[in-house]
Amino acid sequence: MSKKRLATVWLGGCSGCHMSLLDLDERLLEIAKLADIVKSPLVDAKEFPECDVALVEGGITNADQVHEIQVIRQRTRFLVAFGDCAVTGNVLELRMRFSKEECLARSYIEAQSNVAGRIPADPDLARLIERWGPLHEHVRVDYFLPGCPPSPDLIFHVVSELLQDRTPDLDLGGKAHYG
Ligand code: SF4
Repeated sequence: MSKKRLATVWLGGCSGCHMSLLDLDERLLEIAKLADIVKSPLVDAKEFPECDVALVEGGITNADQVHEIQVIRQRTRFLVAFGDCAVTGNVLELRMRFSKEECLARSYIEAQSNVAGRIPADPDLARLIERWGPLHEHVRVDYFLPGCPPSPDLIFHVVSELLQDRTPDLDLGGKAHYG
């Protein structure tokens, strides 16, 4: 069996799901036998490449991520919502109690650590979208991998099964859970 192409992506998340991925420890070597990692926070690639499996951590919070997840969808065979933020919105939903303007004011005007006392003029900083939420609100998702973060056992099972052209058990025999 030829080697597959694996990508991992960090969008609107805290990186905790990727920390759990690193907790695969020596099982990362088994993944490396099955696939080349063609894009990840540790693998610099300016363009998102074609890949067989993409683990996408976090939900969608800004216009750049809306574009990015659409590109990922176009170039990915199996897109996996990686962790509760990607699956349900999870903690991102807490922001929805406040308007975009309130969030920007809190970050750039009210926060004690802020010295500028104003929202920066850089237009990129003002491109938050009104609704933050899970991936499936923007693109079709093939697999939903729950957990905050997902357990290393579940990550290994899902990734290794997909890389070997098998259908993973997303419930992991009743062991998978949200939160
Ligand atoms: Fe962080 Fe949990 Fe969201 Fe993963 S699911 S990005 S660990 S808050």
